Amino acid sequence: MPDMTEKVDKARTLNLAAHCRQTRALGPGLRYALWVQGCHFDCPGCLAADWRVRRRNRLIAVETLARDIMSTLEVEGLTLSGGEPMLQPLACRRLIEQVRVQRPGFTLVLYTGFTLEELQIQGHPERLALLAQVDVLIDGRYQAEYNDNRGLRGSSNQRVHLLTDAYREPGTSYFIEPARRVELHPRPEDLLMVGIPPLGLDPALREVLPQ
Ligand code: SF4
Repeated sequence: MPDMTEKVDKARTLNLAAHCRQTRALGPGLRYALWVQGCHFDCPGCLAADWRVRRRNRLIAVETLARDIMSTLEVEGLTLSGGEPMLQPLACRRLIEQVRVQRPGFTLVLYTGFTLEELQIQGHPERLALLAQVDVLIDGRYQAEYNDNRGLRGSSNQRVHLLTDAYREPGTSYFIEPARRVELHPRPEDLLMVGIPPLGLDPALREVLPQ
């Protein structure tokens, strides 16, 4: 159990909910995926209810993660989700910057509950600095009534912003149009579901997966 009183260097430590070293279910190509722990939004029907809780879960040094990502040579980029990555902006930014020292073309897809406009208007310098590293931003709170069962976002109000040219091809349609699919990755304690779950996913299956 992590010591809740222990001081954490927020620029060098990520509080993680989960990770997956190789997935094709969360963005173009083969990707490394990280879910950070904790989100301050409260979207009804959130698919990551346990990961939303703001608590210390798995503290890991950015340097350690960066080394692991760099050793996973096949992956072309990182997908950051959660939880809310913009609540851990210093460590997230440091991570992608460290990886790009060795792999300059390494891409970043980031899911956030903030809208792009909120991030810009709030002008939080650490969040803006992370935003500046993002190739593709998928923004906005999950709204269950707009879950159209398509694409790599949970609901159609969430928008896909191509902030760099990295994925100008295949473009936003890649994130919005395809049928959903999930991957199941065995972990010692359970199965990790990776991807945006299609509506109607067998409830019995969902019970053994992170919620
Ligand atoms: S922003 Fe995402 S993680 Fe946070 S409550 Fe909404 S759906 Fe859940």
